[in-house]
Amino acid sequence: MSSLTIQIDRTRLLADLEVLAEIGRGSEGGITRRALSKEDAAARNYMKQRMVGAGLTVTHDEVGNLRGRFGSGEHAVVMTGSHLDTVPAGGRLDGPLGIVGAICAVEALGRVGFSPKRPVEVVVFVGEEGSRFRRGTIGSAAISGHVEVEAIHALVDGEGISFRDALSTYGDEGPRRPARARKGEVHAFVELHVEQGGLLEAEALDIGAVTAIAGLVQRQLSFLGEANHAGATPMHLRHDALLAASTFALEVERIARELGGGAVATIGKFEVFPGGKNIIPGRVEAICDLRAPAAALLSALDDRVCAALGTAGQARGVSTRESLLQRVEPGPMDERVIATIERAAAAAHVKSKRMISGAIHDTLHMAELCPSAMIFVPSTGGRSHCPEEETAPEALERGCEVLARTLAELAS
Ligand SMILES: [Zn+2]
Repeated sequence: MSSLTIQIDRTRLLADLEVLAEIGRGSEGGITRRALSKEDAAARNYMKQRMVGAGLTVTHDEVGNLRGRFGSGEHAVVMTGSHLDTVPAGGRLDGPLGIVGAICAVEALGRVGFSPKRPVEVVVFVGEEGSRFRRGTIGSAAISGHVEVEAIHALVDGEGISFRDALSTYGDEGPRRPARARKGEVHAFVELHVEQGGLLEAEALDIGAVTAIAGLVQRQLSFLGEANHAGATPMHLRHDALLAASTFALEVERIARELGGGAVATIGKFEVFPGGKNIIPGRVEAICDLRAPAAALLSALDDRVCAALGTAGQARGVSTRESLLQRVEPGPMDERVIATIERAAAAAHVKSKRMISGAIHDTLHMAELCPSAMIFVPSTGGRSHCPEEETAPEALERGCEVLARTLAELAS
């Protein structure tokens, strides 16, 4: 496919992203589109019109995923796409780039007369971020069969509204196709996305070819010491829960650094009780988030963190408890699709490197269904999930070109 001359319509790409950025934009500049909300529906409707305008055949399924097909025939489809829902006050590229970019890529292929052997399907996944229905990657979980459609319909948001009811006001008319892909229906999947980290920018690279999506373990942790008088209790007679938790927090950092290989560990929630300025902390509640790109490494990280919890408590006469909140297995990407992305980057004369994704994406579930991988473009300052989320226009264009070339090879 290196012989193709691909010209992405940069003006159109930027204009589409700008339209989407105005849907759900708050006074502080952040964009809020919760899954199946009216903002989400408006953004989706805009993309539906774009798909129709680009000549794609549009269908929607029973959980609200939208798909636009380029090309025809009975061959297994090559799928590409991303999501339109956001975190609260999020950025304008996380999700939309992978949809707008896919349509621009398909249009560029159409302009050079490329006729795919396999149809290319652009998908708008429903509910990726998990900021409404207590679970994310809903649309891809339905397509891959990771979660049953009935279970998705039964999800309930914080206000007691069911997914099924929210879907009924989402604006789809006409028949809904089954969400779950049939065996052999999807040939390959690729998602264009912002890196959401600073590696590509730091190394002045254009493209990341994602080799694995890190899995995660989240544990609720309790440190149970003894609340007491901050003035009257001598230092050697204390069972300070905060000091045990603090020792543990530093140990968690040390373990992740020592393991390496892409292992990361974070304690993002830390609550001290009773929380009085003159009371020795009696209890600390914390949540640790552990991630790694391979299952064995994730387990090793988890085991060592759990052992460190007990040790940190014993050293201060503080008892500890932990419970598993969730474990998501890492998703290795497909070598053939990764290599296709690398060839596409070389053909586009841009520099790429292999890297892992620390964040979870719809591609994680799609990889359970078919050979899959992701294309990352640099995030300015490594910022994401915030209004400052940005990527240079020429970098967005390069990402789209690499996507177009990748799709062309996969669809041939
Ligand atoms: Zn995303």
